[in-house]
Amino acid sequence: MLPNSQELWFLPLGGTGEIGMNLNLYGHSQQFIMVDCGASFQSPLDMADEHNPKAKRYDVVMPDASFIEARKDNLCAIVLTHAHEDHIGAVTEIWPNLRCPIYASAFTAEVLRRKFYQQGIYEDLPIVEVLPNMQLDIGPFTVKWLDITHSLPEPQALLIDTPLGSIFHTADWKIDYDPVIGNAFDKHKFSRLADQNILAMVCDSTNAVKEGFSTSEKACEQGLGEIISKAKGRVLVTCFASNIARLITLVRIANMTNRYVALFGRSLENMVSVARRCGIWPEDAKLTHRRHIGYLPRHEVLIIATGSQGEPRAALSRMAQNAYRDCDLDEGDTVIFSSIVIPGNEAPISKVVNLLKDRNIDVYQSETCEQTIHASGHPNREDLKQMYRWVKPAIAIPVHGEAEHMQANANAAREAGVAKQMLGFNGDLFILKPTRQIKRKFVKTGRVAIENR
Ligand SMILES: [Zn+2]
Ligand SMILES: [Zn+2]
Repeated sequence: MLPNSQELWFLPLGGTGEIGMNLNLYGHSQQFIMVDCGASFQSPLDMADEHNPKAKRYDVVMPDASFIEARKDNLCAIVLTHAHEDHIGAVTEIWPNLRCPIYASAFTAEVLRRKFYQQGIYEDLPIVEVLPNMQLDIGPFTVKWLDITHSLPEPQALLIDTPLGSIFHTADWKIDYDPVIGNAFDKHKFSRLADQNILAMVCDSTNAVKEGFSTSEKACEQGLGEIISKAKGRVLVTCFASNIARLITLVRIANMTNRYVALFGRSLENMVSVARRCGIWPEDAKLTHRRHIGYLPRHEVLIIATGSQGEPRAALSRMAQNAYRDCDLDEGDTVIFSSIVIPGNEAPISKVVNLLKDRNIDVYQSETCEQTIHASGHPNREDLKQMYRWVKPAIAIPVHGEAEHMQANANAAREAGVAKQMLGFNGDLFILKPTRQIKRKFVKTGRVAIENR
């Protein structure tokens, strides 16, 4: 079960047919590279049933990597595209069985190192930090990192060259000409790929069912600014901790509206600390210690808190129950969900929202709010078509989505002139060369729950 020198394989073990736990293998000439190694968004509690009653005790749900663990001598490297949990969340569990080099940007590498430390793994890790436009030979593959725009620092698309053809692996992306931090989307970089006769484009499907173009991160500044400038009492904004651009936008709005900003929640403190270390956090984006916030007049307070998904232990859930040490919320305060509801989290989020509303706290959620208070990091239908027209791949391979999203992505590819689409699921082997075909259920895949250490 290894690719020979005439073959080029794409073999997803996670993330294709679902959103979460991305783990992709590319194979050629007996060798593999792994692109991303993520955890599932699924709660381990959902895995508890009569066959698996102990699932409650588990902490991480991740893909079954036993296929590549059994062939670890044929694995050249793990290449990480960005620092989201669904792309790096299983590295600390799977890498110890593989012990290969890991390639990542500085920000992703720093997030990953801290995850290893948290697990008590302090050894010298073979992490190679990469820069945009870098090109490195890894086994029979030549990998080039192409910075793209998404919803956290330093997202990378990959150009993977082999003697049999080139693959453009988009990873998570959207077209954003004003991403607040990092380089703006550069369409020329991607339209130039058309000159290289890209064999296959492996592409994010998350928002393929959404019409039009995606929203720029910059648009949140106006929407959030409008609500915060009108608010009378304290303002609490909850968002994804890794969205450093959003955090910087909030600090800027606080400066304009004369509010002090504090972070409530460990993952926010950790991400800002990583951003500082990597030189991404602006010197003038000042934060106030959370212990001081409770003493300030209510109209001078802006709290950024964890808990946008209703996580019971996060700062927002505890504040909703008036059980947070550093500060309470009162009638007339404002809570803004600068985030989306990840499918599956509807119940815990509405529990928090109801607790807040019962206490006459104003609540804004992006799904029902008139203003733009959240921008997704994934490509809508028109972003997808535009990218397909620029890159002009021979084959489109939709990934990072459920069946409906991947089908919509394939339709967008067809409409944009891509002649062939290959639709498959985790464990299916996509043979790109010598003859295009899919071997269904080539590898047994599944989910593994890991006990909290
Ligand atoms: Zn993702
Ligand atoms: Zn992502």
